[in-house]
Amino acid sequence: MFDLIVKNGRLVDGSGLPAYAADIAVSDGRIQKIGKLDEPARQTVDAQGKVVAPGFIDPHTHFDAQLLWDGACKPAVEHGVTTIVPGNCSLSLAPLKAEHRNKLVGMFNQIEEMPQKAFDEGVVWDWESFPEYVERIKRDLTINVAPLVGHSMLRLWVMGDAAMQRSATPEELTRLQALLRECLEAGAVGMSTSYVDMDETLQPVPCRHADANELDALAAVLGEYGRILQIVHEFYDGDVSVARVDELANLSLKHGIPTTLSPVLVNADGTVVVDKIMARIREHVATGARVWPQVQTRPIDVSFSFEVPSLLFIRMPTWYGIMRHGTHDDIVRAFSDAQRRPELVKEAASLNAMWEQLVLRQVQTSSNQELVGMKLVDIAEQRNTGIVDTMIDLSLEEDLQAHFLFADMGHSDGQKVGELLADPLVHIGASDSGAHIMSFATFGDTGYLISKFVRDEAAMSLESAVKKITYDVANIWGLPERGLLQEGYVADITIFDPDTIDRGPEYYVQDVPGAGSRYVRDAVGVDTVIIGGEIAYEQETGYTASKRGQVLPGATP
Ligand SMILES: [Zn+2]
Repeated sequence: MFDLIVKNGRLVDGSGLPAYAADIAVSDGRIQKIGKLDEPARQTVDAQGKVVAPGFIDPHTHFDAQLLWDGACKPAVEHGVTTIVPGNCSLSLAPLKAEHRNKLVGMFNQIEEMPQKAFDEGVVWDWESFPEYVERIKRDLTINVAPLVGHSMLRLWVMGDAAMQRSATPEELTRLQALLRECLEAGAVGMSTSYVDMDETLQPVPCRHADANELDALAAVLGEYGRILQIVHEFYDGDVSVARVDELANLSLKHGIPTTLSPVLVNADGTVVVDKIMARIREHVATGARVWPQVQTRPIDVSFSFEVPSLLFIRMPTWYGIMRHGTHDDIVRAFSDAQRRPELVKEAASLNAMWEQLVLRQVQTSSNQELVGMKLVDIAEQRNTGIVDTMIDLSLEEDLQAHFLFADMGHSDGQKVGELLADPLVHIGASDSGAHIMSFATFGDTGYLISKFVRDEAAMSLESAVKKITYDVANIWGLPERGLLQEGYVADITIFDPDTIDRGPEYYVQDVPGAGSRYVRDAVGVDTVIIGGEIAYEQETGYTASKRGQVLPGATP
């Protein structure tokens, strides 16, 4: 008797080959048999009219903190995601000495917009080393986790405060290498680094003080294990991005490692930069290098209120300073101050083109309710005042709870994004799930891939789309026995309706520890999600108590 049989489905097996009709039998967490099956099973899932695919793998997340209070990384699983990669962009929660916890929380707060209170109330700090951290998250996992170790964290551990000042000495370099080995042996999937991120004091994060020699020495250790290097490149500068592609290609060839850079975006003003990056990648791939550009599926939409220091304001030092360092009352006071108003309006004026795009998306008073959905520029006209003044006035009227949306900031040309996503050299990822929780919803990129780029734009076949978020990812990231529906493989399976799968509308919920809020999206058209051979989520009944998630690829024997 099998544990579970999925019957009557159309298998899109992750290989990219055409879908076919078959049943799948699962026992002991693995796919035992595929074919026409009449044997008995303890549990049967009827997939009539549905697609049965390998579970989706999200290679770019910042679920590090959420994992500590929610082993399913909700709502990732209900969107069909069965494996996530946290620890991107040089930041991970281990290795981490007790004395650096505040520093880490500050960096997460600054870079990923994860509130301090969420850490205060949601995290019990009972680990320091990477192996301890792996044991810690294993206790309560619904989803599979393939954790990167952050370069900044390695440096903080070995160098202390000097990590934020200089490159490593030869002696420190040896210790950094040994520490990276320890992390990889405990189950890290690779290492992440960043060329752009700033810490809570707006200084470069520790990894940005490393020199090329240090990165090379650490890549050599990745090479001993064949593990991946992830970087955040200077995505706003095309020429520098191309230089980073060269650097990654060299490291890949020299050390025999896969590398990936994120994010690669189609800018609002065209594909010039992206075309340059892709052309250079093509040249390097022809020589045998592995350089995977990560491209996200969704357009860039950013929401904000005055309550949280949105990265949108980073080019406005006075505004950003008030929001970043002020309490609620400080922010209200600063923006209510008639004397300061002209200075604040003047600083914001340089970004008028942006304010003109803004839409008021949410308020709490009934008197402003009728304005919701209107462009700020029209509200300003109605009120006969300036656009920045209107933004400030509304925020004060709403006790800072006026939420504004800047939609389609970039990466929104469906045809161009579709062409890019369909390129066999492009790695679909960069969701940033779990980060920027008060700026946009990072959930549902996989459903959106299918609704937008398979159904609407016809940029690729369903089989190719599924391959890109399953088998391709498992291969690029070195996750054995995942990403394919094949006998003997681990039974991570997502069952969905190919005609309706999508991301639902974005909405605001208060479910973050410390009374925090975030934007989420519900899944549409995802029926059943099986992780490690057990049903983890069903559309009708929601999450089960299943805890079959594992840390991948697992400790090195
Ligand atoms: Zn990131």
